[in-house]
Amino acid sequence: MPPTTPCITAVDTYDIRFPTSRELDGSDAMNPDPDYSAAYVVLRTDAGDGHEGHGFTFTIGRGNDVQVAAINALRHHVVGRPLDALCADPGSLNRDLIGDSQLRWLGPEKGVMHMAIGAVVNAVWDLAAKRAATPLWRLLAEAEPEWLVAQIDFRYIADALSPEEALELLRSGRRGAAERTARLLERGYPGYTTSPGWLGYSDEKLTRLARQAVADGFTQIKLKVGADLDDDIRRCRTAREAVGPDIRMAVDANQRWNVDEAIRWTRALAEFDPYWVEEPTSPDDILGHAAIRTAVTPVKVATGEHVQNRVVFKQLLQAGALDILQIDAARVGGVNENLAILLLAAKFGVPVCPHAGGVGLCELVQHLSMFDYVALTGTTEDRVIEYVDHLHEHFLAPVVIRDGHYTAPRAPGFSATMRPESIAAFTYPDGEFWAKDLATQTTDHANGAAA
Ligand SMILES: [Mg+2]
Repeated sequence: MPPTTPCITAVDTYDIRFPTSRELDGSDAMNPDPDYSAAYVVLRTDAGDGHEGHGFTFTIGRGNDVQVAAINALRHHVVGRPLDALCADPGSLNRDLIGDSQLRWLGPEKGVMHMAIGAVVNAVWDLAAKRAATPLWRLLAEAEPEWLVAQIDFRYIADALSPEEALELLRSGRRGAAERTARLLERGYPGYTTSPGWLGYSDEKLTRLARQAVADGFTQIKLKVGADLDDDIRRCRTAREAVGPDIRMAVDANQRWNVDEAIRWTRALAEFDPYWVEEPTSPDDILGHAAIRTAVTPVKVATGEHVQNRVVFKQLLQAGALDILQIDAARVGGVNENLAILLLAAKFGVPVCPHAGGVGLCELVQHLSMFDYVALTGTTEDRVIEYVDHLHEHFLAPVVIRDGHYTAPRAPGFSATMRPESIAAFTYPDGEFWAKDLATQTTDHANGAAA
């Protein structure tokens, strides 16, 4: 039989939900009861080497089925693709997905459809890194600058960042990369923790977890704010007393405020020396962020976890609306678009402090920051990756935090692979956990317990 070219043979999807709302883990002013969820995708091949590409996007419960349906709508672009060509140039698939002339109407390049593209594209990068037997951060950091530039879609951003400028940034970013790789492997990349600061936690729990964060080596914590000003003043005072003056304390309003309100509220918290105020208002309001930034300085303004694409990031940077840019590994169109965003931030000299937490977002985004450190900006100064200690046990190669730092992953891939038993238990609604749970709820209703 003539040799055949190995191909992608299947795009399998899973609606995976964790019942996090029952513990108020992840509660904030806009999202009081999230069930952390993943619209999860597995790319299967006939290469016979045992490798699969895993990717996902993060949601917080209801609508995860909609997100899965959006991934399913992309299947025809992926199944049948020759594996070698796909892994050698994930950008070709990225362009085809973004350019689907009918699906594009559902965006373009924003929302559910764009997040679905991100899940699929990230799964391809996971597969490419596994086949190359290297962690993704290292694959990116050791790639030729010309190849990285070719992975990026410069449409709509070329006025702020040309391919030639990107190439120059990447070429100069490589100088000293070997020493930084060694340093990264030895020390890791600095993190900060949001675990003490969920809105649903008591002051006692906040104090205990804030002290624990400092004892664990973190130099920055974050508090959720924005529901009630008196509560926020009390919680910021409590946290500041717990950690002392030398630990950075960020506050995060999760888009709760109008522009004027954001300014008033942030100023009212200024006595507790917040390092940044995060998502003070709508992620689409570029000029609003610029106005807030001017009014609340020296408190820094941070946003990005809901910024839908590179075009909005470009404008936030052009408008001087940001002090801190927060990429998210699974909000935009995957690694390719995040490369563009990292390069935009580097060009404008704005530090990137990624959004993480949720389920699996820490696992993914660490690779992008580590690439940035080794082969782009060359620094971790004023840069930290968010860390939340939730749900890591469901991953085959979970993040490892040591002395407040993310340890550099050594396992091949994008750290995206979830344990098969977790997928089986938490698939909604038929996985073992949910089938049992939903049956109990039905019984409660039948017995009148819901009344
Ligand atoms: Mg946030």
